[in-house]
Amino acid sequence: MEQTTNKIILNKPARSGIVSFVKQVLNPPNPYLKYSAEFLGEPPAARLEVYEEATTRSMISKSTLPPLGVRYTVNCYRGCIHACTYCFARRYHEFLGYGAGTDFETKIVVKTNAPEVLRADLKKTKEKINHLEFSFATDPYLPLEANYELTRRCLTVCRDFRMPVAVITKSPLVTRDIDILKQLKSTVFFSIPFPTVEKSRPFELHTPTPAVRFRAMKTLSDAGLRVGIAIAPIILGYNDADIPALLERARENGATKAFINLIHIDSDSIEEYFVGRLRERLPLQADKIINQQKRERGGTLRHQTFADRAGRTEKWQTAVKLFELHFRRLGFERFEKPEPPENAPETPAPVQGKLF
Ligand code: SF4
Repeated sequence: MEQTTNKIILNKPARSGIVSFVKQVLNPPNPYLKYSAEFLGEPPAARLEVYEEATTRSMISKSTLPPLGVRYTVNCYRGCIHACTYCFARRYHEFLGYGAGTDFETKIVVKTNAPEVLRADLKKTKEKINHLEFSFATDPYLPLEANYELTRRCLTVCRDFRMPVAVITKSPLVTRDIDILKQLKSTVFFSIPFPTVEKSRPFELHTPTPAVRFRAMKTLSDAGLRVGIAIAPIILGYNDADIPALLERARENGATKAFINLIHIDSDSIEEYFVGRLRERLPLQADKIINQQKRERGGTLRHQTFADRAGRTEKWQTAVKLFELHFRRLGFERFEKPEPPENAPETPAPVQGKLF
């Protein structure tokens, strides 16, 4: 299989081959392409395609994310089979010439040389980086990781360099790597924004269920690892009332860290895809959710700046207070608050703290 884009050349046959997928192709127009095509009539089924990329040159991405400061992230895959409709990483697929919709969920790029490149990166940059995060552009424990073991091998590299790591995942596959994680300074966050599969499925199309994620959290905690819950995203009017129950359940399953984030949408294509899926899956609640989110962003769904990522209304402030109240009541560990950026809003965006 050969696929050429302006960034990468993918020319090795995928180990996992091509698997049929029973859903239709659906991608908003890619703003980075001059032309886009639409199907006349019913589009074909989207098929899972796995591309191996052996030409990755760097594995550490640096991003500055006020008020958190600089983050260094590692992603062994591009695209994500978990297919969360709210995922902000969808736009990174457009940089490859793919779509942010079903392409993001079904065209998965595997960086087969990730561990070797990460080792070379750390040799060069070890002095400047004090921790790495496994997440951001994909889930580090996609089902493909069971075969490729790239995240596992990258964790081994981090162990060799005594590099602290944070992992954010929705998958129980992380329990496979307990042995390596125990040899590192590590924290594993499970992203669990919804308490039940019924509430999860409209937004998280192919993720492991919340119950499975909580079970994996307990397995890691029982093994002596530090674990946390990411209640992210908060979709006001849909899951903010679930914050206390999610924190309680996380505590029962050994979590000592927690944070929340308001949903954030930062491109036209993600907005189009998110809204389309929302109307399709929750037709009776869609308008209410969209209107509330627009109030948080001053009339649009998209935030314009990082400072805008926090909500503006009393409803968001109430969600934050609810989180803080139960965070303290349940004895979650207070993490060091980063310095707020210049021009930050008076009430700091809560609430993602440092991951260590
Ligand atoms: S699991 Fe994470 S990376 Fe994957 S689609 Fe969901 S939010 Fe995006």
